[in-house]
Amino acid sequence: MLELFPDTAEVRGGELFVGGVGVVSLAEEYGTPLVVYCEETVRAAARAYRRGAPDAVIVYGTKAFPNVALMRVLSEEGIGADVSTLGELRYAQAAEVQAERIVVHGNNKSDEELAAAAEAGVWLVVMDEPGEVERCVAAGVKRVLLRVTPGIETGGHAAIQTAHVGSKFGVPAEEAVEVIRRGVEAGLEVLGLHVHLGSQLLDESPARAAIAWLAEFAGRARAEIGWTPEIVNLGGGLGIQYVADEPAPPSPEEYAASLVSSLNHAWTLQNLPRPQVVLEPGRSLVGRAGFTLYRVGVVKRAGGTTWVAVDGGMSDNPRPALYGARYAALLANRADESAAGTFAVCGKHCESGDVLIERAELPEPSRGDLLAVPATGAYTLAMASNYNALLHPTAALVGRRSRRLLRHGETIDALLATEA
Ligand code: PLP
Repeated sequence: MLELFPDTAEVRGGELFVGGVGVVSLAEEYGTPLVVYCEETVRAAARAYRRGAPDAVIVYGTKAFPNVALMRVLSEEGIGADVSTLGELRYAQAAEVQAERIVVHGNNKSDEELAAAAEAGVWLVVMDEPGEVERCVAAGVKRVLLRVTPGIETGGHAAIQTAHVGSKFGVPAEEAVEVIRRGVEAGLEVLGLHVHLGSQLLDESPARAAIAWLAEFAGRARAEIGWTPEIVNLGGGLGIQYVADEPAPPSPEEYAASLVSSLNHAWTLQNLPRPQVVLEPGRSLVGRAGFTLYRVGVVKRAGGTTWVAVDGGMSDNPRPALYGARYAALLANRADESAAGTFAVCGKHCESGDVLIERAELPEPSRGDLLAVPATGAYTLAMASNYNALLHPTAALVGRRSRRLLRHGETIDALLATEA
């Protein structure tokens, strides 16, 4: 179970410690639900990517968890930012990510977003549809990639597949060469191609298939219009392990190295000059670094189920309700006790679908215990809502026995202040 938590997780005297900090004092200081991030684990993931692909540019998929302090940490490790909205661009700027390390995405970018990207002088804007040629020119954007749709289906949940035929993302192969030709003619620096296959990928095979497809496409573009990509952005997608009985994905180092070597091989076969590789990991940089700490409230037997209700739920982690995502849990203040049975962990929302974990092996939980759910660093707070007027949780960063706020919790007054 500890392997699902950040690298520094350990149990001391029955209590879960991460980054040298005990969860009991964290819950007392910041309240619950609390999302705790381990700085060492974030830095280790960033370094692993850089070791695996030393010549690649690595940008953080900000959507996994837009957070200024965390993006500063990543920036210190040489990681830029992939942003897909004006808001995410502003987060990257607030974190002082260098403009030449920012890549702008979006399947429906507004004129305001394109103009902001141009004004910020970002490295690349990734065009997602044919009409963006003219809109990029009009907005003053200079350097672009084209997102292409290779028609590859990955094994992940349908909602997080992005490169299949008919996807809302990218330009289908049959139109892409013409869009590149028009882009070049319109004066844009069309520097290369982008593909993002989907998220929570558990092996390299979809990326390998995409690379082979991209090489073939690049060969065709050279033959038809004399254009070759200087940059190939392979997107993000590497998954993390959420539960112990799930296969562990390759490490970021293995994954990045394998993608670069596949690309070199495929490009050699096409006799194309080696491009600059860009990778855009989100989940695999911050997912395992974060876990959520809840306080147990009601424990109730109903039918054959024992419900353990915590003080959050689908508002701070919508993934189980959205994707059927599975999680594990540890009774974090009694972490050395053995399991007494199987419990269902639910939240406090007014929906029967507000179930975080259908089957968690736990010691008999009681009101006031702390329940830690690992691997919640990505796509949880980022997707959180105020359903039932619950507040977004606080987030804290721990490391070297110290702690600091990453993000303030909300207040009910602040929620009420948005009322007209
Ligand atoms: N790049 C793009 C274009 C994306 O859409 C996403 C996520 O949806 C990512 C990168 C990050 O993906 P992941 O968090 O799976 O690594």
